[in-house]
Amino acid sequence: MSETQGPSTEQKRNASVILNRLAKRYPKAETALNYSDAWQLLVATVLSAQTTDANVNKVVPVLFDAYPTVEDLAGANPEDVEKIIFSTGYYRQKTKSIITLAADIVEKYDGEVPADLDQLVKLRGVGRKTASVVLAEVWNVPAIAVDTHVKRVAHRLGLTTNTDPTKIEADLKALFPKKRWAEVSMRIIQFGRDVCDAKKPRCWECPLRDRCAYENKTPRPSS
Ligand code: SF4
Repeated sequence: MSETQGPSTEQKRNASVILNRLAKRYPKAETALNYSDAWQLLVATVLSAQTTDANVNKVVPVLFDAYPTVEDLAGANPEDVEKIIFSTGYYRQKTKSIITLAADIVEKYDGEVPADLDQLVKLRGVGRKTASVVLAEVWNVPAIAVDTHVKRVAHRLGLTTNTDPTKIEADLKALFPKKRWAEVSMRIIQFGRDVCDAKKPRCWECPLRDRCAYENKTPRPSS
């Protein structure tokens, strides 16, 4: 894609075909993390690093039973929090992150998670990816989160040639209409986990095979 001119009509049409096929395969464009509001999703997203969503879903209800409000977690004893989130891995770092995040939200935004990308990324530990997930999921605000799956799949499908996540986000935003941004990452992430795996993509059963220029496609395994 040209950096100066933006995508052609043909490239946009191709992107639309890709997203429509993913929408057919994954009708529910939403995270597998359980949450009841923006605050809980922010915390669940931090906890989801290097573990499964199912694992996080087991821990989150216990955590919010113990600390129902942002203020409660901001004033928590780290050792108590560590015991609760232990099973998600990296528990010391994650405990520090979520307590700091809570304190930051109390200090900067009176305990309310802001529905704004620029304000969200001012919170310690919240990058564009996490902020975009929360905006798209909770408020349906047009946003595209670029994680490792989105990065890999977008490259393989030729939707970007960039490696910097902010540039990839800009490329994807130029390809898809704004009203569909919120669904782009959720569907691509599901597809990346399910079919277009990092090491061994299931190319033989891929619904986007005819749209993919990836050179190392996996052949159908012999039975
Ligand atoms: S053909 Fe293979 S590499 Fe290409 S998108 Fe499908 S699973 Fe991914």
